[in-house]
Amino acid sequence: ALQADNISAWFGDRKVLDRVSLTMPAGQVTALIGPSGCGKSTFLRILNRMHELIPIAKLSGEVRIGNEDIYAPGMRVTDARKRIGMVFQKPNPFPAMSIYENTISALPLTGVKASRAEKDFLVEEALKKASLWDEVKDRLHQPGGGLSGGQQQRLCIARAMALTPEILLMDEPASALDPSSTRRIEDTIAELRGEVTIVIVTHNMQQAHRISDQCAFFLASHNTPGVIVEHGATEAIFNAPRDQRTEDYVNGRF
Ligand code: ATP
Ligand code: MG
Repeated sequence: ALQADNISAWFGDRKVLDRVSLTMPAGQVTALIGPSGCGKSTFLRILNRMHELIPIAKLSGEVRIGNEDIYAPGMRVTDARKRIGMVFQKPNPFPAMSIYENTISALPLTGVKASRAEKDFLVEEALKKASLWDEVKDRLHQPGGGLSGGQQQRLCIARAMALTPEILLMDEPASALDPSSTRRIEDTIAELRGEVTIVIVTHNMQQAHRISDQCAFFLASHNTPGVIVEHGATEAIFNAPRDQRTEDYVNGRF
């Protein structure tokens, strides 16, 4: 499992997350839901030390994969990142780089030198995991930028999966895509379920309902930092929420 314990975070002197704790069970899909500005993206970045690239002033709490603290002194940022892949809202393959090279472009993080044959194998495996292989197998050496938006996003999933991560973080991975591309991404997530621990931020409640095993509902206000109001099995969050605010949110009332 991926475990966050008592995460608090500040931008300048403004606290944006307040003692957020969440267990994300191995092989399951956890959806992070909640209104804009409640700290979902910030939390996701803290899970793989990506926040070290944004101006967080202060952070407290712990993140563990199994028993390993990803903030322990011996754990380097690259060690954390190769175990925890990330996919963003806007597909961001290297547009001029080939589909093949894009797929293995994160490999230097592992420090492993792969032979040509090993690369060929990795590329095929990763593109299959991202349900993109059949569409691109005849044009692997064409630029990634030539793919449709939905295909580019699946290429980004392939790039993350080429590292065989234990965890895949996705920040609104389908919100820039049309409905059919969105469906393809959801199907891909369903296929990866079981193989990798997935944490996905989404504003799409049907999507959260369809693809996740558990949901965590985040909430903040102008003067209170983000907290998890309620988390639990997806069916319970949608059909028997304990908190009125959860019920209102999942039913589109704010
Ligand atoms: P959305 O659903 O709109 O993506 P979110 O839940 O992902 O929102 P965050 O982006 O994590 O929310 O933002 C949480 C809070 O932190 C917000 O109040 C936001 O204004 C603030 N914040 C985010 N990034 C920065 C930054 N780089 N500098 C200062 N404040 C920031
Ligand atoms: Mg966000």
